[in-house]
Amino acid sequence: MKVEVSEAQIQTVADQVQVHKFGGSSLADAYCYRRVARIVTEYAGASDLVVVSAAGDTTNRILAIIDAKHEADADADGDYGMAEVLLKQLEKYQQGLITELLSGEHQQRLLRASEIDFARWWDWLSGAEIIENRPELLSYGELWSARLLSTLLQQQGTQADHIDARSFLVADDAPEPLIRVDVSRAGLLNRIAPYAGTRFIVTGFICADPEGRSLILGRNGSDYSATLVGSLIDSKQVTIWKDVAGVYSADPRKVERVVSLPILDWREAEELARLGSPVLHPRTFQPVNRERMVIAVRSSLKVENQQTRIGLYEDAEASGKVLTALSEVVLFRVDLRDAKLIEAFEELELTPLISWNEVAQHQAYYAYHQNHLDYMEQWLAEIDTKHNASKLTGYAMLALVGNRIQETEQYSVFKQETSEQALRRLALTPDNNAVVAILEQKLDNRLLNRIHSQLFNHRRSLGVLVVGRGNIGSAWLSLYRRLRERINEQMDVRIIGVLNSTRMWLDYNGLDLTDWQDNFERLARPYEMSQLIPELPNAPYDELVMLDLTDATAVAQLYPSFFANGLHIISANKRAGASTESQYSEIRTIQQEYQREWYYNTTVGAGLPLNYALNDLRNSGDSIQSISGIFSGTMSWLFENFNADVKFSDLVREAKERGLSEPDPREDLSCQDIIRKLLILAREIGLRLDWKDIDVDSLLPEHLADIPLDEFMQRLPELDDGMQDLYQDAQQTGKVPRLLASFAVRDDDRVIARVGIEYIPEGDMLANLIPGENIFVIYTDWYHEMPLVISGPGAGKEVTAGGVQSDLNQLLSRLSKKV
Ligand code: ADP
Ligand code: ASP
Ligand code: MG
Repeated sequence: MKVEVSEAQIQTVADQVQVHKFGGSSLADAYCYRRVARIVTEYAGASDLVVVSAAGDTTNRILAIIDAKHEADADADGDYGMAEVLLKQLEKYQQGLITELLSGEHQQRLLRASEIDFARWWDWLSGAEIIENRPELLSYGELWSARLLSTLLQQQGTQADHIDARSFLVADDAPEPLIRVDVSRAGLLNRIAPYAGTRFIVTGFICADPEGRSLILGRNGSDYSATLVGSLIDSKQVTIWKDVAGVYSADPRKVERVVSLPILDWREAEELARLGSPVLHPRTFQPVNRERMVIAVRSSLKVENQQTRIGLYEDAEASGKVLTALSEVVLFRVDLRDAKLIEAFEELELTPLISWNEVAQHQAYYAYHQNHLDYMEQWLAEIDTKHNASKLTGYAMLALVGNRIQETEQYSVFKQETSEQALRRLALTPDNNAVVAILEQKLDNRLLNRIHSQLFNHRRSLGVLVVGRGNIGSAWLSLYRRLRERINEQMDVRIIGVLNSTRMWLDYNGLDLTDWQDNFERLARPYEMSQLIPELPNAPYDELVMLDLTDATAVAQLYPSFFANGLHIISANKRAGASTESQYSEIRTIQQEYQREWYYNTTVGAGLPLNYALNDLRNSGDSIQSISGIFSGTMSWLFENFNADVKFSDLVREAKERGLSEPDPREDLSCQDIIRKLLILAREIGLRLDWKDIDVDSLLPEHLADIPLDEFMQRLPELDDGMQDLYQDAQQTGKVPRLLASFAVRDDDRVIARVGIEYIPEGDMLANLIPGENIFVIYTDWYHEMPLVISGPGAGKEVTAGGVQSDLNQLLSRLSKKV
């Protein structure tokens, strides 16, 4: 085809016409179309070309319909039900867009055209019409969006028309169609040059062979269409409008706190696309005249946001720009002695992500993106059906892109970080504009976030999952709201979920805690903890912590699973720390294996700084000989108020009524709560102790242990005689009874542990606590004549919430130092 327009017209086109491209996500619904129409009228010039993809997920829908039909065809008594349903949905979606966006004559015209198209589709589905060429079916997606956008513009009074790219873009069929530049250029110029002042909407993704058969340019090929069209008319700029404001330091859907990149060099962008980043199609840069053209990537959702300009921008200083990842990578392994196959791989146009030789084993490896698997298998079958390339799966890729990457500091950080993973191979690309790591493991967003923040030196982030929204949970959430600014100084901390036993309110972006109780009621959904936990590594944070503010054994049993999925734990729940020796050591083993932190300061003595004191002594070289005291606020209250004139049963009843005891006071009377604290304390200082090792004198007679709570409350006075006897007995020697817990390390390293009544001299501090007060009397090598004593309130939601916060502060200062 000859160019029929004048040289002057061609020059005007080159100087004045720019190209814009809108992808499927920018055209997903009527609202998106209106926004795009506004951009086209306000930001595009009067004669600009606009390349569009199929609306939303139309291409995927078409592929699903084709597959459903093929399946039905292959089936002897084929049922086309599925294909019919999908086709009906597509028809409804496309015609819904037309009726929503257009009115009057414009709507009538487009609906008629759409009905004709879909009549053909139904004929195809019923077998009345044969369309064997898949690209022809796929082309409809782009055709419909070009036609709709141009009609919408016309309806709004903008001069516009649409062009089916198959009318000018000619290519020879190949796995990647080979464009015939001259005819395509002539075709396009002849079509547009005479119409200055008209905005043309051009279909992306599709072209035609010289016989006019449809061809496609590969998935996500419209970016390529746009630069192709731009280079055919020698345009100075192509703007690719996305749902993101340009190219970022990582995929913003997976990584928090990405940095936007105002400029990117051609070679960096090309490498990024070659490594499979969805932000740009790999062929986008092929046709570009790099001296002349600039590609702008900007957001169709937020036009005011920054954009990325891709051009000749070689930085003076080398720097890593983008961290990119592929979760599924296939390796092909070839014997180095198979010279023919090696040569074929080396000459293959689709370059591997990286390739390497392991000479000692006589093996060469070629790594490819999973999306290229079909292509590679077809290619291998074509060159040699009995080829000796083995396919290895289960790999992933991480890469850092930037010119002269080897000179950057980030290169060593990247090397260090990936060496801590299951690294199979790390290599620089031949042009030194990316370092690529192939890992023999799955990728999750947490890992990406962590490495990203190491590379780009951001404030690290912590996602907090709050389990339990009772007294302590509520008190801690209010405290957190009050302290939020201070807490956020060290790291970026966000609450990602609040859960009770049946429902969760989860949002990885961080919950808005104003009116959180109402929001919980409105937004919380039923969930299964065991299903939630494996999902959590995808929360886009460097670190995650679970606050266990429950009293639930079910939650405690999941600690190994929380640790194994990367969460740290802060517990106010005693159940894990006081589980059986074997469960406890399982928890500790997993915690150490995954290098997670576990704080549980509030499980003994609520907010009292007991753990800190013990750890500090031990870390400074002291060793603990014994700890004894009154570990239970309930017991402290009962005994400090008990004397010859009071009935013990009345006190128990009052404690229950005032919420000072467990709802079932037998939990306290049987000393379970105290035993748990004793176990936690002993284990904290490294002693091995199990339930069976503790000598327990329970206050609960066995015959009252298994009866219903109501009945137990009625029969409480049965305790009175025994308790009075005890009191009188103690008084004989001027003492009073107290419920004490203690453990001591003997010289032979055996641990003696006991919980039960002791008689205490009336003047002793243990006998003179404020009712409810806890006391811990600690003897160590250094404090052996006079003990170290820590006392104060050992329960209460405010002090406990404060203690949880103190644990969180510890965690934060530890994690923020880890960078
Ligand atoms: P469209 O089809 O609308 O042209 P895509 O959805 O194919 O756009 O590509 C844009 C997507 O690419 C973004 O939504 C983003 O999630 C992803 N992406 C991956 N890596 C990056 C990156 N480094 N910068 C920006 N976006 C990225
Ligand atoms: N509609 C095509 C696809 O989904 C092309 C594109 O979106 O760029 O692959
Ligand atoms: Mg796309």
